Amino acid sequence: TETLLKVEGLKKHFPISGGILGKTVGHVKAVDGVSFEVRKGETLGIVGESGCGKSTTGRMLLRLIEPSEGKVSFEDKEVTKLSNSELRKLRRDMQMVFQDPFASLNPRHTVGKILEEPLIVHGIGSPQERKKRVHELLEIVGLSSYHAKRYPHQFSGGQRQRIGIARALMTKPKLIIADEPVSALDVSIQSQVLNLMQDLQKEFGLTYLFIAHDLGVVRHISDRVGVMYLGRMVELSESENLYDKPLHPYTQALLSAVPIPDPKFERDTILLQGDIPSPSNPPSGCAFHTRCPHATEICKQQTPEFKEQSKGHYVACHLY
Ligand code: SF4
Ligand code: MG
Repeated sequence: TETLLKVEGLKKHFPISGGILGKTVGHVKAVDGVSFEVRKGETLGIVGESGCGKSTTGRMLLRLIEPSEGKVSFEDKEVTKLSNSELRKLRRDMQMVFQDPFASLNPRHTVGKILEEPLIVHGIGSPQERKKRVHELLEIVGLSSYHAKRYPHQFSGGQRQRIGIARALMTKPKLIIADEPVSALDVSIQSQVLNLMQDLQKEFGLTYLFIAHDLGVVRHISDRVGVMYLGRMVELSESENLYDKPLHPYTQALLSAVPIPDPKFERDTILLQGDIPSPSNPPSGCAFHTRCPHATEICKQQTPEFKEQSKGHYVACHLY
């Protein structure tokens, strides 16, 4: 299958300033060398606890945050080298859906105006054509054309996320980067929004990068899943493999916390010791060693390489 997006050695180190002179006294390694590709038509899930760098990674792909290092390519274009005007053009093809649709929708604008805006920004269509597209998109995401006259506060959380999705689809993008699009929603609404996203993917041939903080959410939507810990990718695999045979101790722990509907397959919960260490002062060697039940001496000293264990199944751990 064709690669749509390729990420190589992506890093974001934020400077920490200290003292009265505000000198740089260190760096938060929010993202510390992440590489992966997204294939045309697939959903790649990226999972990790808060602070692991998954949102920063998502935003760097669109250069909403500038990377400190590394390369992002979309089709034949090197995103990390584009000028601002080229970047604006590219954003027709790559759109983002945010976690909190309320914060990302202007409360003073009608939904019609909010949805029309990306078309105006990109100079697409006449006023009539734009209006028609707004009404079309509202129907596509399960709302109605009369909703165009209403304001964001008049909608429920689930409806607002449908509006956020409609806005992302206005310019007919190829790739959607969805940053925890259902995390703020009630569980019963989550599956409706996930189903909608899956239907839209089929209908419009979309590719998704789907960011989530728990493996349960991305299970049914993802073709492949990558797991991040403290700014790095620690495991990446076809979904089936990852859920059936997780290799990294961190993935195993995350998975043990996901409830299984069938009690026959009951698993023991692996409790991780301690909190996530600060990314401004990550542990030496394997950054997971302070919480890993299998850590040995080498784990404190050497950073494990991200290596392919079986076809398409990558892991960064000294056990393999
Ligand atoms: Fe655990 Fe060591 Fe593997 Fe890191 S490298 S996950 S500390 S066993
Ligand atoms: Mg986040």
